[in-house]
Amino acid sequence: MPQEITKRRLKGIRKALDHQKQRLEIKERQRQRLAESAARRPPTPRRKDWWDADGEHETEGSGRPSGPARRPSSAVSLGPEPEVEGIVVEVRSADALVAYEGRVVWAMLHGTAVTADPSTRSPLAVGDRVRLQPTDGDQARIVAALPRRSALTRDVYDPSRKGAVHTSQVLAANIDQVIVVCSPAEPPFRPRLVDRYLVAASRDALPAIVCLNKEDLGVPEEVERYLVGYFRLGVPVVRASALTGAGLVGLKECMAGKVSLLTGHSGVGKSSLLNALEPGLHLRTGEVSRTAAGQGKGRHTTSAARLIPLSHPDTFVVDTPGIRALGIRGIEARSLAVHLVDIAALARRCAYRDCLHRGEPGCAVAVRAQHDDFLRERLASYRGMLEELE
Ligand code: GDP
Ligand code: ZN
Repeated sequence: MPQEITKRRLKGIRKALDHQKQRLEIKERQRQRLAESAARRPPTPRRKDWWDADGEHETEGSGRPSGPARRPSSAVSLGPEPEVEGIVVEVRSADALVAYEGRVVWAMLHGTAVTADPSTRSPLAVGDRVRLQPTDGDQARIVAALPRRSALTRDVYDPSRKGAVHTSQVLAANIDQVIVVCSPAEPPFRPRLVDRYLVAASRDALPAIVCLNKEDLGVPEEVERYLVGYFRLGVPVVRASALTGAGLVGLKECMAGKVSLLTGHSGVGKSSLLNALEPGLHLRTGEVSRTAAGQGKGRHTTSAARLIPLSHPDTFVVDTPGIRALGIRGIEARSLAVHLVDIAALARRCAYRDCLHRGEPGCAVAVRAQHDDFLRERLASYRGMLEELE
């Protein structure tokens, strides 16, 4: 019946108008939220909204971090969504996982101009703040990267590659501190690597903390000496055990309200520490194989850096893949000692003002190192880095 058809048509139009009204209301709310968030500090995504209890990212719609966000379909298309601000959780070659307004999406990089710092080879790094445009068709794209307030970088150089050049890789951006995790054994304590992290953190104007995990394995006297040495340099030292739970309260306190980069040699127990700190995270941990442990090589289990929200307010951690070496660049050779405060303090007494402490006559650092085990190791670390910088 024609009357029936008209009724149905009217109902359809009314429904479409309702949809349009709802959509406009949503857009208006988004605009208001954006204006509010611009007035606040950088967006810190809420934890439970985008990180499920199994430690998997909860991307909208798919439930897996493999596809773009699924937005509710609408009868009326109003063109591209307004831009929103988000924070990069994980980076792949062509896209990045971005958290915004309590959800996460895999978003494509739009254009080559999207970079927070053109001097590094990391156009985007975990922790970067970006402007994101959720688009029609359940897509999202990153239209701009916002300037970084901090970043820890490392030098990447592979001499075996043709035309090999040094490039600077950003391990994480917008972090407040670096927590260098190490262990007394399995893998053995590596003072050279710790020193490198301390120098890199100082160069990048970031405070550092040394966390000795696996203290349940027993701490040899030599390692105790290092810990005392770092403490005397003014570096906070936390002793912990992911296995027994010792020291975790102290570690939590250090991390509260901050974005921390958790780093260190693979196998020292970074993932285990996070699992112990945050029950329900279920990060994958790796067994150190018998032969690998003998050689001090923990098995590599973490594949990419990622930003993990902890349940304490405003507390985030960047979990980085375990590494075996940290390339140092971006420091003038003659300024390196500035980043090793014990060496810098003694350098004033060297016979030559421009002494580089590598065997020059009258070097006060070398003289003192003869009677100071800790300083001797620090000097060896310093000389290793110096060689790399020249
Ligand atoms: P990551 O590579 O730094 O993330 O290290 P994992 O968390 O994967 O741990 C490497 C190995 O060390 C695993 O076999 C863990 O069970 C072990 N481990 C981690 N923490 C501790 C600890 O506090 N004590 C002992 N004894 N073993 C630990
Ligand atoms: Zn000297």
